[in-house]
Amino acid sequence: MGVDWYPQREAALLRHFGRSVLLVEDSRMFSTIVRFRLETELGVRVTHCAAMQPLRDVLNDSGDEYALAIVDLNLPGASPCEALDAVLSQSIPALVFTGSSGEATRDLMLAKGATDYVVKDNPSAVQQVVTGVDRMLAGGHARVLVPDCGSPDTQAVAALLQRQRFQVQTVADGAAALAVLDAERDVDIVVIDLDGRRDDGLVLLCEIRRRYADMGVRVVGICGQDDDMLASRFLRSGGDDFVRKPIRAEEFTCRLFHLAAMHKRFQALNLIASRDYLTDVYNRRYFYEAGRRLVDRVERFDGKASIAIMDIDHFKRLNDTYGHEVGDMVLKAVARRLKARLGGRHLLARLGGEEFGVLFEGLGLAEAVASCDMLRRELAAAPIEADGEPITITVSTGVAAIEGHEVFDNHLNAADQFLYMAKHAGRDRVFSELSLPAALAG
Ligand code: GH3
Ligand code: MG
Ligand code: MG
Repeated sequence: MGVDWYPQREAALLRHFGRSVLLVEDSRMFSTIVRFRLETELGVRVTHCAAMQPLRDVLNDSGDEYALAIVDLNLPGASPCEALDAVLSQSIPALVFTGSSGEATRDLMLAKGATDYVVKDNPSAVQQVVTGVDRMLAGGHARVLVPDCGSPDTQAVAALLQRQRFQVQTVADGAAALAVLDAERDVDIVVIDLDGRRDDGLVLLCEIRRRYADMGVRVVGICGQDDDMLASRFLRSGGDDFVRKPIRAEEFTCRLFHLAAMHKRFQALNLIASRDYLTDVYNRRYFYEAGRRLVDRVERFDGKASIAIMDIDHFKRLNDTYGHEVGDMVLKAVARRLKARLGGRHLLARLGGEEFGVLFEGLGLAEAVASCDMLRRELAAAPIEADGEPITITVSTGVAAIEGHEVFDNHLNAADQFLYMAKHAGRDRVFSELSLPAALAG
């Protein structure tokens, strides 16, 4: 019996561990069940208030700690919605958990700014609360981009999402949306209203799918005009969801929370999948992915970029002399040093064994060569402490410019060939096209 909980607990730790949720509920039965399930299944810390005064005290003392609140509409001795108003006045997102149903109550709660509500009138109500909290925590603060493709409803859609605490940015058109996506990596969802310039919206969707295939930004379409084929066309072109007008606010935001939560989890898994297990820099798979995107950007913007492959010299000898474990420590230390030097500006990956790759975005060949030569000198100048031993290492590097209309693999091969030449010429050096005249003369 007890054993069954462990996998769920582990899942919980992965989910929202350490986040705090406020539960305002006078029914002992509901508060006990909800609290238990949120703590065990989602890993959140729950603070429970059964009446107005304790709620006021908690809000005064630590209101800013809470990621969200679950609020019963009617507490004994309080006026209707008093607890909800108190929570919302501190800008805490609220999920209303109420015994009252009906359109009027629903409209009132949503108008006040509650994010969602669950009515306690069916056996799945507690499950709905758990799911709602899970999605609000995972999807909350998601960034949503709303391009204005000429629909009269664009601003209303943006305002609706803002009320639900999505971080909303409206931009003038599809081109502006692409510019934002190119410049920033943290847009989660793009919402395209197709009631304006429909073809612009569809072109935008296709371009997003072409450019950011794996990075996975989610795209949602909306439309009110009668066109039976539009939804399937949109979804077939890579749209993640499609909503018809008139928009039901709850359904729309439920869909967006769901999508945002899935997207955040997808990104978390993607992050794990892109790392090298030993050194925690990017891995080979991600290097190829990022490299292909970089080549695409260089072509579109006519920018500069270079690629380097760096290989530790005589690493097999080092392993043979000091042992594999010390070899591993050296690999980690080299990765740490390179990462510290390259910072967030250039992408570093371990391509395998004792070989690292760097994508220098914004640097032409001569600048990248200079940068690699500085890294080479710094690595050789300061021995690495591993298991009490000071170990001096050197690296050989091949560098190639990313230019012309070549695919990424060709640039990578060019860098690899220059690396081979650097090894052949005696190691501890940087080789590129710029080294050729001297090498040929010598
Ligand atoms: P060169 O100067 O020509 O590059 O010689 P090298 O010895 O560095 O190159 P070679 O490719 O012959 O050997 C690479 C060695 O790296 C062989 C392998 O045992 C070692 N190696 C590969 N992956 C790891 C690892 O994860 N940890 C450790 N400690 N060693 C590794
Ligand atoms: Mg080597
Ligand atoms: Mg090697």
